[in-house]
Amino acid sequence: MTITLKNVSMKFSNTTAVNQLSVTIPKGELVSILGPSGCGKSTTLFMLAGLYQPTDGSILFNGKDVTKLTPEKRGIGMVFQNYALYPHMTVLQNIMFPLKMHKVKKADAKNKAIEMAKLVEIDHLLDRKPSMLSGGQQQRVAIARALVREPEILLLDEPLSNLDARLRLTMREEIRRIQQALKITTVFVTHDQEEALSISDRILLMNQGELMQFDIPENLYDEPNHQFVASFIGAPPINYFEGEIIDHVLKTPFGYEVAVEAPNQPVQIAVRPENVYLSNTGLNKRVQYVERIGKDTLVVVGSDNEKTRFFLQKGEQIEVGQAIYAQADKADIRVFQKTGERIYL
Ligand code: ATP
Repeated sequence: MTITLKNVSMKFSNTTAVNQLSVTIPKGELVSILGPSGCGKSTTLFMLAGLYQPTDGSILFNGKDVTKLTPEKRGIGMVFQNYALYPHMTVLQNIMFPLKMHKVKKADAKNKAIEMAKLVEIDHLLDRKPSMLSGGQQQRVAIARALVREPEILLLDEPLSNLDARLRLTMREEIRRIQQALKITTVFVTHDQEEALSISDRILLMNQGELMQFDIPENLYDEPNHQFVASFIGAPPINYFEGEIIDHVLKTPFGYEVAVEAPNQPVQIAVRPENVYLSNTGLNKRVQYVERIGKDTLVVVGSDNEKTRFFLQKGEQIEVGQAIYAQADKADIRVFQKTGERIYL
């Protein structure tokens, strides 16, 4: 099912939670809605679900306008943050419940529920009550219940946020596996950029109700179209350096200049940590801090309010307090106006 949002807005009394959102989510893809707290992620998901009516714009499923349809009529499955399982029912009864509500014959409902339980690998737990399940198992029940009526769209609202770090990793792989097995169009809300980058076909990045970029993960990382995107994506964070455009020439702090079609202005030059390297030329900085992160060594140079982070190459040694030169290649620098808009080189 292709999902299209056309100029969708949601205004609460004095807040615009979502502002003129237009985007098309291709059939069969897993799309994450990503962004900081309060940016409008859940509101967008609730509008897709039919739990909120947009104050403006329209929502189409496979080209059909569903803006006014109730949640039951939309053919969606939804999993909430807290799973919302029925505590007095067993796993099997929980999964069967949506079928029961739609008057599916008991034997058929049971078969279908068991099939779903097998898909999410909880068919050995059918007689348990939710209170006797781990967080990850409860999550699987919620997913099975959301899928049991074979919806064409699956909506997930921060489904992993109540799980510990290890289980989050397992469950996100599980969600991806199930989504790909069923080829179901899936919208996944998260505020965790690493989670979004790893699980998604595409990411819809929002800030303050606005769409910042809708793109494949690689492009959000390598080709951010706004400084907000560059900063929000990536850990350790992207580095910034002051630069200036004078007479169509960008002056960089790395000792080279680049021709550019843009008016005179001060700019921010951004470089990912893995694209900064030790050199004999470039930015002269002092080493503040050296930290091992797994197999990598992260170096922090510069002053407290102007830090640069990068990784050592194999065989390189460095001491705290040492003066070094940091360099970045022209192909790896991204340039932003002071307003945050990208300047393409
Ligand atoms: P979080 O990651 O914290 O869950 P979010 O990105 O999902 O945040 P939303 O829950 O969509 O953000 O909220 C977007 C904005 O709309 C926020 O400023 C929020 O306070 C406001 N908002 C959300 N729901 C309502 C409501 N029912 N009434 C009034 N304001 C609301």
